[in-house]
Amino acid sequence: PKILSAEFVVSAHQIEQLPGGVLPEVAFWGRSNVGKSSLINALLHRQNLVRTSSRPGCTQAINYFLVNRVWHFVDLPGYGYAQAPLPVKEKWLRLISTYLETQKRLRAVVWLLDARRQPGPEELDWLDRLRSWRQEVVVVLTKADKIKRGQRDRRQSEIAAQLAPSGVKAQDFIWFSTLTQEGRRELWGQIMRFLS
Ligand code: GDP
Repeated sequence: PKILSAEFVVSAHQIEQLPGGVLPEVAFWGRSNVGKSSLINALLHRQNLVRTSSRPGCTQAINYFLVNRVWHFVDLPGYGYAQAPLPVKEKWLRLISTYLETQKRLRAVVWLLDARRQPGPEELDWLDRLRSWRQEVVVVLTKADKIKRGQRDRRQSEIAAQLAPSGVKAQDFIWFSTLTQEGRRELWGQIMRFLS
């Protein structure tokens, strides 16, 4: 779609702070530093709407963006930031679990994996939970420009093999690069399928 407007709405630190209303939403999620902020900016053709962070894990809030005045894009705080203190981690876990389990307007979760990194037990665990919460998941392999074309098939099979117990399939992966814009159209296609 043509992006007519994209604006920041709210940064929710507690579930009560989520915006009300009826607009359908799509959430973006992955390990911190996976390229989530860059991907959202690329989708919306904005340079810096979502601030890319030099301090990974420093955002522990759910950030809402209003797109074309009809959809919400939801930037979820990334997981896997080891250095956060335990109480911060626990609060984060409660916030994110409550959101993913109860948000009725959430149509799909765009799940980001760094194409260079082999997913581990943490990824499988989250995918299992997403499935138990009956969320639709769109799997995106980020930083695609870092993987040579000739290595793509093997990389994709390796990731798919690791994620197989969760029911995720390799043919559903979307390769995405903010540098080349590869995958942008395909990902928008998936997103629109859930938003319309
Ligand atoms: P976030 O923590 O998940 O929001 O990740 P960021 O969007 O801040 O990106 C983390 C790092 O990865 C930054 O240094 C980005 O420049 C880099 N990055 C993000 N997307 C891409 C991509 O498509 N290709 C490459 N080569 N680097 C990327």
